[in-house]
This record gives sequence, structure tokens and C-alpha cells, in this order.
Amino acid sequence: MVISELVKKQKCFFETGKTKDIDFRIESLNKLYKAINKYEGKIEEALKKDLNKSKFESYMTEIGITLSDLTFIKKRVKKWARDKRGLSPISQFHSKSFIKKEPYGVALIISPWNYPFLLCIEPLIGAIAAGNCAILKVSEDSVHTSKVITEMIAETFPEEYITVVNGDKEVTTELLEEKLDYIFFTGSPTVGKIIMKKAAQNLTPVTLELGGKSPCIVEESADLKVAAKRIVFGKYLNSGQTCVAPDYLLLQNSVKDEFVKYLKEYIGLFYTKEALRNEDYTNIINERHFNRLINLIKGEKVIYGGDIDRELLKIEPTILDKITLDSPIMQEEIFGPILPIITFDNIEEVKHIILQGEKPLALYLFTKNKKVEADILKNISFGSGCINDTIIQLATSRMPFGGVGNSGMGSYHGKYSFDTFTHEKSIVKKYNWIDLPIRYMPYNDLKMKLLKLFLK
Ligand code: NAD
Repeated sequence: MVISELVKKQKCFFETGKTKDIDFRIESLNKLYKAINKYEGKIEEALKKDLNKSKFESYMTEIGITLSDLTFIKKRVKKWARDKRGLSPISQFHSKSFIKKEPYGVALIISPWNYPFLLCIEPLIGAIAAGNCAILKVSEDSVHTSKVITEMIAETFPEEYITVVNGDKEVTTELLEEKLDYIFFTGSPTVGKIIMKKAAQNLTPVTLELGGKSPCIVEESADLKVAAKRIVFGKYLNSGQTCVAPDYLLLQNSVKDEFVKYLKEYIGLFYTKEALRNEDYTNIINERHFNRLINLIKGEKVIYGGDIDRELLKIEPTILDKITLDSPIMQEEIFGPILPIITFDNIEEVKHIILQGEKPLALYLFTKNKKVEADILKNISFGSGCINDTIIQLATSRMPFGGVGNSGMGSYHGKYSFDTFTHEKSIVKKYNWIDLPIRYMPYNDLKMKLLKLFLK
């Protein structure tokens, strides 16, 4: 269907008011839940084809986490959608104040390829819960998963309510020419800027879930064994193609040798000594990214891994030593299974390094030193993070997930997803039995005195 007609159709459907009905929203969430269960096998197959994701990883990081957020939201949406009472100031006597929750209208959700199911459906849950119509622009790089999502959504919802649009950036550009009511974008900061510029033409509100270089700090007081285990998990999951993966390691010199030994041990334990033959090890999404990543390894000091399988598009879990801020790998988000190590002697150096760059999407700090913890949390701005773990901060419906500055704006998950797709309309309902005269002309000294009493 022509895009402008599709948007028109959704706007007409939104205007019927059907999507605002709370029972309709809950019923739609139930339908989505059932559809995900029905399509579970197909989603897993598609993720295997796109990224060689194992069934376990597909469920843990895409299907399960989506269902869990859906259940959380479904249980609570009725309460969240209610009008919220506000207090009226005495100057507004006699009145009642309240906040009405209203959906924006037609929301466009643009998703990337790295968690192609989760990052498309999780924002959709928020859009439905808040009472919007939605157009999902799925990624052209994860073709199999995009195809299954298209089929699942078409079977579950009428296109005037929720629909999927496939295609490359030309299609996205066409969508962005339309006057939409909300844009929720997940992807790179570079494309995020294009989206925001386009949205500005119509003053469409946006949420930008972006990426960047997320530092991982290991300080000498840390439990080194546990730290190594958790960093290996967060870094090499999905072959490093995770927006919140630790991008680079800031490692205190005094514990370097021991820590690197543990890192190597855990990579061997998790992925075996021959990770490239491990059937559950994820591949790189396409040749373009594969070649980009190989170039980042070239000429660097590889202290673990480095082998590749061009046919399977796999790169071994790799560690690079002797990396400096000028190294090519430090100039862009890595988004692959390569961990560069930069060493430091004191925590002031760490702050200096991180503050030189853009505000990261995530930050991970491994320490038992409370002073160091307080110092980093107080003085460095980043989207979200963990103390003594990696990436798990996003696996909850009870906290907002989002970036700051170059890593994004806005947030979602749980109640924050509902809030993101909801406009809060403030209403003052005035009673007519009394009408305080102060604000009306003609003004005089007594009115001035009263005004100063009310407004101070
Ligand atoms: P991308 O920005 O290249 O593409 C994302 C989407 O934008 C795709 O649907 C694509 O079709 C569209 N697009 C690409 N170029 C466009 C253009 N010129 N105009 C309009 N639309 C365009 O990102 P990607 O490669 O799919 O994903 C990787 C990036 O996404 C990384 O930076 C990663 O950190 C980030 N990311 C962030 C999160 C998060 O939650 N913050 C999650 C996953 C990925």
C-alpha cells in the first residue's frame, strides 16, 4: 500500500476512538501475547537464520524478555490509564484539577537488526497500552525476522491499527515525510540525527534509543574472577552486537595480568577453545559489518582470538592489548566481539578518558570500593549501567531504559513505555458558584496586595 494512504487509514481508525478504549487495549495486548506464543518456533528459526542465535539466547534475550514486559504492562495498564488527580492552587478556588492520559495517535516505530524481534515488539507494547495506532518499520538487514514479524502482525491486527512496513532507508525517508504523531527510533546516533531533523519539520515528538562506546571499568578492589565472567557474558553475547555491550575495557594496571588470565579462561569455558565451530555462537549480521570489524583488528596486538570464518561470518571472541585513545578501534562503536584493553593507574585517568568522549549509553564498574563507586556515579553521565555486572540493567520492567546526550533521549520498559507513548493533558475544572475577582480589570492596590499573597 502507498505509504501516505496507510498513514491516512491509521489516522481515520484512530479518530474512531476505538484504540482509546481500555478493554480494546488489553484485548490487543492479549492477542499479541498469543501471537508471540504461536510464532515462537518461527521467530527462533528466523533469528537462527539472521544471526545464528541459539534457541536459548533467542528466548532469553528476545522472546522471553518481550513476553515478560508484556505481562507486566498488561496487568497494570488499567491503573496507569486512569485520570490522575492534581491539587488546585488556592488562587484557582473553587476547582478540581486532573491529568488526562491521552495517546498521541499514529506512532512510527523504527527498529534495528541486532535484537530484531525485541526492539520492534517491545516499543509496540507501549504504543498499544497507551492507545495508539502503530506502523512498524523493521530492519532490512535481519530479513528473516522482519518477514516473520510482518506475517505475525498481519495475522493478528488490521492494518489500519497496526502494520509492518519493510524496506530500506528510502522507505524510511518516505515514512518520515508523513505527519506522524510520534516517532520511536532505535539505531545509530548518525541515523538518529537524520530522524530528529525530519521529525522537526512536523514538530513530531521523538524517542531516540541510540548507541555509542560504553566503557567497562575494572578497578583493583574488584572480585576479578566474577568480573571476568560477567564481562565475557556481556561482551560476547550476540557476538558483541548489543547496544549496551561493554565496548572497551579500562583495566587497572596493578591487576592486569591476573584479570586477563581470567578473561581468557572464561571465554574458553563459555565458547570452547574453538568458538568458530561452536554451533551456538552468533554470526556477524552481514559482510559489510564483518569486513569493518576485521579491519579494526588488523595491525593491533591480539592477545586472544582473532580468527575468522568468512563463510559463516563469524569472528572469534577477541581481546586486543596496548590500545590507546588514538587507535582506530577507539574512534567508533565496535558492535562486534572485540574487546580492546586500555590500562590506567588511578581512577582520575578513567574519568578523564570517559569525559573526553560522548555520553555513553551504558557504563559498567567493577569495584568493592564505595568511594570509587560514588565518584563515578556522581561525576559521569551515562544512560544506564551496573556496578559489578554488565547489561542486566535493561532486563527489568521496573526501571527506565534509555540514553542521554549522544546515546539518546527518552526511555521505555514497563510504565516508562506507557508514559512514552502518552500525552499528559492537564485540566482545571472550575465551579461556577464563586468567581474570585482579583484577576479581572480594573486593577487596584488591594488586588495587588492579594496577588502578592497568592503568588510568592
Ligand atoms: P541504523 O541506525 O543503521 O538503522 C536503524 C534503522 O534506521 C533501520 O531500520 C534502517 O532501515 C533505518 N535507516 C538507516 N539509515 C537511514 C537513513 N539514512 N534514513 C532513514 N532511516 C535509515 O542502526 P543499525 O545498524 O540497524 O543498528 C546498530 C545501531 O543501533 C548501533 O549504534 C547500536 O548501538 C544501536 N542500538 C541501540 C539500541 C538501544 O536500545 N539504545 C538497541 C540496539 C541497537
